[in-house]
Amino acid sequence: MFLTPAHGGTAQCALLGISAPIERLSLTKTFEQLGLPATLLAGLEKAGFATPTKIQAEAIPPQMAGRDILGIAQTGSGKTAAFGLPILSELMKMQGKARPMSARALILVPTRELAVQIDEALRSFAGSMRLSTVLVLGGMSRHAQVQKLARGVDICIATPGRLMDLVDDKKLWLNETRFLVLDEADRMLDMGFIGPVKAIAAKIGSHRRTALFSATMAPEVAKLAEGLLKDPVRVEASPPATTVAVIDQRVILSGSKAKRGELNTLLADPALEKVIVFSRTKHGADRVAKNLAIDGHEAAAIHGNKSQNARQAALKGFANGNVRILVATDIAARGIDVPGITHVINYELPDDPENYVHRIGRTGRNGASGSAITLVDGTERGKLRDVERLIRRTLPTSGTLPGGEAASITAPTAQPRHKPKTGKPRWNKGQKEAGKARRGNGDGAPPRADNRPPRGPKTEGRPQRDSRPQREGRPQRDSRPARGNRRAVATA
Ligand code: ADP
Ligand code: MG
Repeated sequence: MFLTPAHGGTAQCALLGISAPIERLSLTKTFEQLGLPATLLAGLEKAGFATPTKIQAEAIPPQMAGRDILGIAQTGSGKTAAFGLPILSELMKMQGKARPMSARALILVPTRELAVQIDEALRSFAGSMRLSTVLVLGGMSRHAQVQKLARGVDICIATPGRLMDLVDDKKLWLNETRFLVLDEADRMLDMGFIGPVKAIAAKIGSHRRTALFSATMAPEVAKLAEGLLKDPVRVEASPPATTVAVIDQRVILSGSKAKRGELNTLLADPALEKVIVFSRTKHGADRVAKNLAIDGHEAAAIHGNKSQNARQAALKGFANGNVRILVATDIAARGIDVPGITHVINYELPDDPENYVHRIGRTGRNGASGSAITLVDGTERGKLRDVERLIRRTLPTSGTLPGGEAASITAPTAQPRHKPKTGKPRWNKGQKEAGKARRGNGDGAPPRADNRPPRGPKTEGRPQRDSRPQREGRPQRDSRPARGNRRAVATA
């Protein structure tokens, strides 16, 4: 056995210099050495998995030995196999079939897309193994899910809300469940699933092995982990430093009216082969997709208001290259893994700067290079500063804003904390522009359907971002423990 760089390790070594790489090297060379059965090894080979990623190398052996896992891992680190393979391996040892109305393993995820991806991945690893799975997801036929559960399944992959629904309805009993996975736990908490998650874990009872994965260890996640895990082995995946480092990031200042044209200009470049365009809201995503279609581009949109079938179709078309552009919202895109995305375009910045990092992580995966281009209008300067503060770098900026929106640029960041009642805020004019743009784009979208702050007099009383109260239950950003992610981004 010799040292081999884990997944993406080379780039990290180059990036972090000489002292850091050691802990990023995996001592395990092959999946075989992780103790996986031959059937799964064959499945992995077929799936093209030659070497375990860091999280896989670290998390699989303890789970095979029956330990709980606390995994801190970003999207793209290979979590699916990290929790999936030990479960499949245990299921292979089990006799007979699952009892009716029960599931031997339960995987909780925040979004439907993620569930579908996990199902596909597990099936490919399983190879010739007989495996029954069910997806229990909101927005899909409940009846079909109930019928599948009635027969009993090996693995149930579910969003917490719908699952709790079916448990409450006595369509599924959790007392036979032996394996519980919480994937992207931070996001499930963000989405308000804490209640169902805890209730589900309580119903399963203590005779279970649990793995919890989260991109961050925010205090709420740590608290949840403490409640659900028994003496867990803590594993950490490589932070997204590689990802961020190889992604070329830039900002184009653009009046809100001009964004559509700016996007068209960008898309005229054939180098933008596979593009994901992010908008902040569902309505925004629909509007962008609609305008793209009018402007002659092939685009598909995914967001929470679309049916599961429409979302799957859009994703498939994008993944297999039939559709060049995917328009998405943050939540819908969470955890999606489509290889080969060359460009991420932020049509609007997200409210939460951490979503910027998640968004741009869609490109530049597995060491490939990628580009992230962010269109910023006058009203988004504060959000851009938040992003730059989070990633600890100033993004190269081009373009100009029209007069009204430009005025807001020169407005100082945080002060004055409370604006004097007299005198208009300097960015009021910019927002008027934005309002006009929204009214004037001729696509029939209702004004302010995108939840932006209201125009006119009401706006004046609105405190600046920094003086607004923090979200409930969430500690102040700066008091949260430093994360690998931030440090790593800073080195990029
Ligand atoms: P995560 O759940 O952490 O976001 P995934 O499990 O979805 O990560 O894996 C990310 C991508 O990397 C997927 O396309 C997956 O097929 C690929 N992948 C994961 N592990 C390996 C491996 N050991 N070898 C090759 N590709 C891998
Ligand atoms: Mg995943």
